[in-house]
Amino acid sequence: MGLTGIQILGKLPKKNCKECGFPTCMAFAMKVAAGQAEITACPYVDPKVVEEIAEATAPPIRTVKLGGGDAIYSLGGETVLFRHERRFENPPLIGTIISSSMSGDEVDRRINLYKKLSWDRVGILLRPDVVYVEGANAPLVKRIREELPWCALVLAGDKGNLEECLKVCGDFKPLLYPAKGETEGFFELAKGKGVPLVISGDSLDEVVSLSQKALDAGLKDLVLDPGSKGVRELFEDLMIIRRSAIKTKFKPLGFPIITFPYRYTDDYLLEVSLASLLIPRYASIIILSQLSAGALFNLLVERMNIYTDPQKPLVVEEGIYPVNGPNELSPVVITCNFALTYFLVNGEIEGSRVPTWLLIKDTDGLSVLTAWAAGKFGADTIAEFVKKCGIAEKVKHRKLVIPGLLASIKGELEEELPGWEVIVGPREASGLPAFLRQLQEEIKAKAA
Ligand code: SF4
Repeated sequence: MGLTGIQILGKLPKKNCKECGFPTCMAFAMKVAAGQAEITACPYVDPKVVEEIAEATAPPIRTVKLGGGDAIYSLGGETVLFRHERRFENPPLIGTIISSSMSGDEVDRRINLYKKLSWDRVGILLRPDVVYVEGANAPLVKRIREELPWCALVLAGDKGNLEECLKVCGDFKPLLYPAKGETEGFFELAKGKGVPLVISGDSLDEVVSLSQKALDAGLKDLVLDPGSKGVRELFEDLMIIRRSAIKTKFKPLGFPIITFPYRYTDDYLLEVSLASLLIPRYASIIILSQLSAGALFNLLVERMNIYTDPQKPLVVEEGIYPVNGPNELSPVVITCNFALTYFLVNGEIEGSRVPTWLLIKDTDGLSVLTAWAAGKFGADTIAEFVKKCGIAEKVKHRKLVIPGLLASIKGELEEELPGWEVIVGPREASGLPAFLRQLQEEIKAKAA
């Protein structure tokens, strides 16, 4: 984070050609300085300058990438101590252990749980996304890769076995977790294969010393396991690591952290509670002793909440959403594209079992009243959207249900939409099922 926008501008070719996606070199330089654009987006910068700028603007906690293909995960890349200072960047991966020492039935059960445990929440798929493969060997890793292709892998074992596992992984990058005492051999292996490596030790001092050795050996992508002995020490270590990286730019600790909350308790509820504390403070990978639906769902929702950028509202795309298989006599309901509103309204319509056309108008993610106040969900913009979206070709009737909160625009909207009857819906989404059932009967009766 060492260069200002003006300093970066001085290193750009200043063609103002817009190929980077920004209108001027100046605008691009400001975005690069703010960490919102990659210097590589300008094709005309000398590679040496790219390296220099990338180094100077890199976050104090290195971004380490795992996986490959459609399953690429970024760890670290953090720039702040607390979320309210800006935002947290890359959410921690959460998963459990699959070990070569487990029975075949247990391995099957765990793999099946990974497949079964997933939830759609405000359009985001929540599921466990990392497997800690203990005593990793090539057949086990091959099976996990085939059956859980979306999961990142942490492979723990001896060097010989992990070399075989890397052949199975191909271009997919796992995180290597060396058996204790084998660190030196792993430096060469990780560097040669271009995969990240866990640096672990019995104390934070040992981790710092090994991390410095790894840096001296030319390794760039590391993940730290501080080896803390108790819960208090764990959280102290995590705070020291983050503060040292952010406040003093201490390179040996400027890496993501892997954690194992089950090391500190045999009580699963306590383990999950620890995991919930590790999401904001400051784990990049959390390995649980086992997965249970209740625990995992809560951790994933917490993760989503903590790692959602508070400056960017969650949105859904503008368009026509058919719910419950609507036809030409089904009600038409319109609302904004704030994700929470969409999922509440959609959920109530689904629950009502009334076939319905749900129109989602782009309001930049603002909720109904805020969007109306901002001029993004008024009679003119709604009318324009209804005319162009094509709903008139999908239904025979001309009845449009607007949110109850927008009752005041009914008359104006009917003027803007000649031929349409604007019906004021309930103020709360929970009122929709009864409302839609009655409206459906009215539309059918009129058409009969
Ligand atoms: Fe300037 Fe490079 Fe962007 Fe062109 S692509 S406008 S030269 S920063």
